[in-house]
Amino acid sequence: MTNQDAPLVVKKDLVVSLDYKLQVDGEMIDSSEQDPIQFLQGHGEIIPGLEKELYGMKVGDHKDVVVPASQGYGEFDPEAFAEIPRTEFPKDFPLEPDVEVQLRDEDGEVVDAYIEKLDDKMVYLNLNHPLAGKELHFSVTVVELRDPTPEELEHGHVHSDEGEEFEDEDFDDDDDDDDYDDDDEGYDDEDDDDEDEDEDD
Ligand code: ZN
Repeated sequence: MTNQDAPLVVKKDLVVSLDYKLQVDGEMIDSSEQDPIQFLQGHGEIIPGLEKELYGMKVGDHKDVVVPASQGYGEFDPEAFAEIPRTEFPKDFPLEPDVEVQLRDEDGEVVDAYIEKLDDKMVYLNLNHPLAGKELHFSVTVVELRDPTPEELEHGHVHSDEGEEFEDEDFDDDDDDDDYDDDDEGYDDEDDDDEDEDEDD
């Protein structure tokens, strides 16, 4: 495909390469830095409040987008808490406030939670996304556009150059280094084998 054939304006079913910075409460909390994210526009790969603002942007265009919580990571849900007895955690699990814990819901999906507080017997988990209830201030630049492969279009998501699936772009990779993942012993480490998140291959 020559450059002349490359799509020029963001529309549904195009693969978008996007540079972004994300500020919350005046603080820079995430950025694509020199590695733009890629996603298939119109398939819910990124948060809806940002995706809808990209339509019509040209390659090289820059935009500041303010996304309300309802269009971002959702409103804060005061019901989204859980209590788990300390005895259900592995002995060496770092039971401290703010440590990330991965749970499985009824469907076996992994759900991220954070330790809110502890007492002698119980661990109190907050299942809200860390950015729930937050207004998101994005600063984005469209770096590149291309047509998807037939396979990408069929799957509804982007595959990387190596043919590997892109993980969902969310923000759970920004502090993994500080928490229990360091020692490769997650809360659910007894079944590490099915930890892979492939859903459709
Ligand atoms: Zn796929």
